Order: sequence, then C-alpha cells, then structure tokens
Amino acid sequence: MLTGTESIFVRTSGCNLRCGFCDTPFTSWQPEGTEQSISEIVQACQLQDCNHVVLTGGEPMLQKAVVDLTVSLKAVGFHITIETAGTLDQPVVCDLMSVSPKLSNSTPSAERAGTWRERHEARRYQPQVIHDLIARYPYQLKFVVDQPRDGQEIIEYLAEFPEIDAARVLLMPQGVEQTALLEKEAWISKFCQQHGFQLCRRMHIVWFGNQRGT
Ligand code: SF4
Repeated sequence: MLTGTESIFVRTSGCNLRCGFCDTPFTSWQPEGTEQSISEIVQACQLQDCNHVVLTGGEPMLQKAVVDLTVSLKAVGFHITIETAGTLDQPVVCDLMSVSPKLSNSTPSAERAGTWRERHEARRYQPQVIHDLIARYPYQLKFVVDQPRDGQEIIEYLAEFPEIDAARVLLMPQGVEQTALLEKEAWISKFCQQHGFQLCRRMHIVWFGNQRGT
C-alpha cells in the first residue's frame, strides 16, 4: 500500500522459516550481519531525510529487541511498517503490519533444506497470530504468487479469516527477473480484479534490478 513511498529499510538477520524462494538468504539460510544497538539504529535512521521506516528481515518479530526498537523509532516520530510472515507476535508499535503468510509454494526441497523442511512446514501457518495481528494493527496481507494454482490456495486460506478486507489483500509475483515478473503480473492482475485484491508489483526489481541494498 505504500509502494513508491521513500522509506528507510532496517533489516534484521535471522528467520524462523526457510522459504525456497527467499530473496534475502543472507538473513535466513546463511544469516549474517553486524550487531548494532537500538540507539545506533535510531540515530542512523535520523540521519536520513525520510519519515518512513520499514522494519523487515529475515523475521523482525523473531528479535526480542524489536519491541524497544519500535518504541524508540516512534518516540522520534517515524512511521513504522513491519514486514512479517505472521508466525510470531510481539507487542510492537506499528503503523502498518505487512503480513506475508507463506503458502505451500514456499516449502523448500528436502535436498536443500534437510530438517529445516519439517520445521518450515510446522511453523509457516499460525492462524491465531494472524487473527491477533490484524485485530491490533492497520494491516495488509501480501501473498507471494508463483503459479496460477496458488490462487485457489489463497481463496481457501482467506476463508479461514472472514474479518480480512479483500482490498487489503495484495498478490505479488514471485521472482527476481523482470521478464518473468511481467509475465506473471498479467495473469495475477486478472485474478486480482476478479476477487477485489490488489496487484503488488516488485518495484525495487523494476527500478534497481535484483541488487542487495535496494
Ligand atoms: S520468511 Fe521471508 S526472510 Fe524468512 S525465509 Fe521466508 S522469504 Fe526469507
């Protein structure tokens, strides 16, 4: 919903899932990064001429310090979006809870993931967390769509959450290459029109290509 809004991205490292299509493996499959204190992060954000902070990962809700971080960012006036897979809950301060539930298309192969495949499957669907998050915060639900058959799974998924407003459901094509994204956008867009959802384009790929840091 805030596509195109200039934003500072704060990316935490570490994730409780292992999606096969993860485009930030440096925060999940092979987590890396440097430790920074909350005051260092807030100060770095304040150096930018920008009012919006997107807290993403990895899975930011995995980090205990995320609550204090959001309190500190809000205290100096930032608009806070949190990007989460919706499997963990914490009493954060948040202006837009951007929940990206992981469908069966996220499950990694056994060859690649080993025991992480079972852990991913056991963790990726946490309906009570979704109910609680969307009850407490302004929200959007963003599904990663790879194949036309994913549409039916989304419809069945949403049937479990009658309180969700279809206009807050975004469908985003899976991929990191522009030509493939455009091809998927064509049929996803039609599906969205049929069901009152919104197409979510991967504008960072369009503008910058698949580059880390964008
Ligand atoms: S939830 Fe997000 S960060 Fe974690 S593995 Fe899946 S795509 Fe990657």
